[in-house]
Amino acid sequence: MTENQIIGSRQEYWHSLAHEDVLRALRTEPGGLADSEVRVRMAQYGPNRLTPPKCRSPLQRLLMQFHNILLYVMLGAAAITAFLHHWVDTGVLLAAVVINAIIGFIQEGKAEAALDAIRAMLSPHATVIRAGSRREIDATDLVPGDLVFLVSGDRVPADLRLVSVKDLRVEEAALTGESMPVEKSIDTVSADAPLGDRYDMAYSGTLVVYGQATGVVVATGAATELGKINEMLTGIQSLTTPLLRQIDRFGRVLALAILGMSAATFVLGTMWRDHEPAEMFMMVVALAASAIPEGLPAIMTVTLALGVQRMARRRAIIRHLPAVEALGSVTVICSDKTGTLTRNEMTVQRVVCGGHVFDVGGVGYAPVGDFSIDGRIIDTEHYPALAMAIRAGVLCNDARLRQEDNSWHVEGDPTEGALLVLGGKTRFWQHAGETAWPRLDSIPFESQHRFMATHHRDSDGDSWFFVKGAPERILDMCSFQLSRDGEHPVDVDTWRRMATDTAAQGLRLLALACKRATPEGERLSLSDLEDGYTLLALVGIIDLPRKEAIRAVAECHHAGIRVKMITGDHAETARAIGAQLAIGVGKPAITGAEVALMDDAALRRVAMEVDVFARASPEHKLRLVQALQAHGQVVAMTGDGVNDAPALKCADVGVAMGMKGTEAAKEAADMVLADDNFATIASAVREGRAVYDNLKKFILFMLPTNGGEALVVIAAILFELALPLTPAQVLWINMVTSSTLGLALAFEPAEHGIMNRRPRPPGEALLSGFFVWRVLMVSVLMMTGALGLFLWELEIGTSIETARTMAVNAVVVAEMFYLVNSRYILASVVNLEGLTGNRYILLAIAACIPLQLAYTHTPMMQSIFDSTDLSLLEWAKVLGAGLLVFCVAELEKFVIRQTRLASRLAPHEQ
Ligand code: ATP
Repeated sequence: MTENQIIGSRQEYWHSLAHEDVLRALRTEPGGLADSEVRVRMAQYGPNRLTPPKCRSPLQRLLMQFHNILLYVMLGAAAITAFLHHWVDTGVLLAAVVINAIIGFIQEGKAEAALDAIRAMLSPHATVIRAGSRREIDATDLVPGDLVFLVSGDRVPADLRLVSVKDLRVEEAALTGESMPVEKSIDTVSADAPLGDRYDMAYSGTLVVYGQATGVVVATGAATELGKINEMLTGIQSLTTPLLRQIDRFGRVLALAILGMSAATFVLGTMWRDHEPAEMFMMVVALAASAIPEGLPAIMTVTLALGVQRMARRRAIIRHLPAVEALGSVTVICSDKTGTLTRNEMTVQRVVCGGHVFDVGGVGYAPVGDFSIDGRIIDTEHYPALAMAIRAGVLCNDARLRQEDNSWHVEGDPTEGALLVLGGKTRFWQHAGETAWPRLDSIPFESQHRFMATHHRDSDGDSWFFVKGAPERILDMCSFQLSRDGEHPVDVDTWRRMATDTAAQGLRLLALACKRATPEGERLSLSDLEDGYTLLALVGIIDLPRKEAIRAVAECHHAGIRVKMITGDHAETARAIGAQLAIGVGKPAITGAEVALMDDAALRRVAMEVDVFARASPEHKLRLVQALQAHGQVVAMTGDGVNDAPALKCADVGVAMGMKGTEAAKEAADMVLADDNFATIASAVREGRAVYDNLKKFILFMLPTNGGEALVVIAAILFELALPLTPAQVLWINMVTSSTLGLALAFEPAEHGIMNRRPRPPGEALLSGFFVWRVLMVSVLMMTGALGLFLWELEIGTSIETARTMAVNAVVVAEMFYLVNSRYILASVVNLEGLTGNRYILLAIAACIPLQLAYTHTPMMQSIFDSTDLSLLEWAKVLGAGLLVFCVAELEKFVIRQTRLASRLAPHEQ
């Protein structure tokens, strides 16, 4: 039988075979598959991914663009104009419909492409053993026969037959609906066991909530159990957010109101002013087309997608689009410490051991540095207690120290790496490793219990347990201490004092202990960890704050955002590091144990006051989020472990770590930090505010430009003036400007002072009183420019065609000028940055100019739209009308800035 046949025929029965047989059948060696074999299997079985849900085809997407109330109106109008033989109007209407649909199609495509790129960044990883070494690969590159490591927080990347397990518990809700985690083992189960009872298997898509395991891949992609029910687990939700839905509704209500108003104008015009029904009908269609902000939802979506793309470039990957809005109104950021606020580059600086305090020299991971006592360099060989402590640190350790091109790297946990480097700085390093004292079993470090333990056999065949972890935790297990002259009963008070002194210098603490014993078997059990240990040393590790985090915390404080640090570290360490970052200065730090003693009301009282929470566990994070939210705060919370998921889900913006975070945390989060860096959260908040600003700016641009055109027409009807714009001309303006100019605002970068404002209150209505004023003022201004010029020209005897051509150009030019005004809501744009800072604005204007020139000067356009050539003087007047809008709009901003009016605006609008 070929291997392919084996895999095919046994697919259903892997759980009933002993794991050795499975490995044999899949020809998997203990060192995993060779790279050449991986290539062969990849060609045979394909990548390990599920077929994505069917996307809409481009044609379907294009057709969907016509599903829009305005386009229905315009198509209906085109049919009626064709019936009335107004062929030019029919043509213009149809062209406007097609152009609108195409622009919508392109914009939507752009938004989807932006999100697709981000989806790809969220692809899960898997840790495998291939060709004898451990590697991190994309989960899509797994093939049957691969050996995969699982640790708590992992999403199982393919169907695995377990080969070794250590307290493995897996939550299989994705597959079986059962939300209680299932304990796994490697013992074979019967062939007819249902999916939920196959304890020796880990299925793709399920979640490791505890423990560790190794398994061999037996099925990938569509062949997995999950593939059979084909359910996509991750991905970004649809292109919408609460605000966009609100705008969409607003747009629809506005459209209906405009249609109602148009109908009223039609009735008024025909009955009261005795206009021709056919002529009035065309006017009303033009009016509706100009007033309905049809580009609104599409451009809003693009603005949002571009914001998400910009955030991704700054290494903040958005998983749920509503988070972009929430980010702009965040009032509290609760952040982990290690690796997020600090560099996570650990160096041991102090070892308290055998009655001495050793200071350790050297920086980074290079194992070079001296040991000194009271400033005097010493030879480590004379300190046997130190040798034993180093041994404990090196053995009770899962990290690897590697030299590459003259620089040293740590693979694994940097805290453990620091202990290897410490060992490397002594001479007994060579004898300390696992070759001399092989490891029989281990209990890995988990933040909940804050220690790690290993079981070894020495060269005489004796058994040893080593533990390392938070001093309080380790002291509880210790009965003795190793002093200069051998073992003595442990002096807990002295060690506690030492720990507090060391932590107060901002050093992270680890205690090391050992116990010699005759265990029952090789496995470590919790009863082996109860007492009888000998305390060997207390280690102080420095982990400096990130420079950019210090700046980012200051920026957040400026922006009215509180920063709280929630850490597993010792309270004194946390306070000292907090002080370096300007977090919680002069305020007490409280510990998880204290939080546990408080009821919700008490926690609510301290939640706002305290900024440093030490020795905190995931459940404290959840309670803290709830307490802060009860104060009306908008909370961003970071997390990385599987147990952080509830707090991340509950927070307004859950933030997961991309590098050290588990899949479980990433899936629960709204945003993933690709670089685990606090500064990235601050820049995402900045971008979040910018996106919201751009949405506002677009509305402030779109509504008055549409309103201005509509007012020109309405005023002409009301005051019985000659129509300054013909229906076809109104449609032309709409076609040229409505979706093109405004789109440029989606590319607007964040304003300089954006992080000096207060956070925006969540749920605040977009259209504040100030907004309504601005929309009305600019609408009237636009109308004054165009209508005024038109009437003035008629007054001085210019032909109606020329006056209309000037009115059309005045509207378009005024929109171009106002687009520049709209870059800043209140700040002046009369400076180099303001006028030229966004090249998309300049490009959009540059694209409109030739269209207007063609409209005015080409015979073809003149015959379609009844336009005429303009003289230089007439063009100058048109520019004058545009400038009028520009200057008055700037003047209004100036007055608002200068007068007390500004202080009446909400703080976040200033
Ligand atoms: P945060 O990232 O939330 O700021 P942290 O990373 O400092 O917190 P943990 O990793 O949970 O918090 O560590 C808490 C404590 O557990 C540390 O102060 C240290 O004493 C101990 N500890 C950390 N890493 C290990 C490890 N690999 N082995 C044993 N003990 C450890």
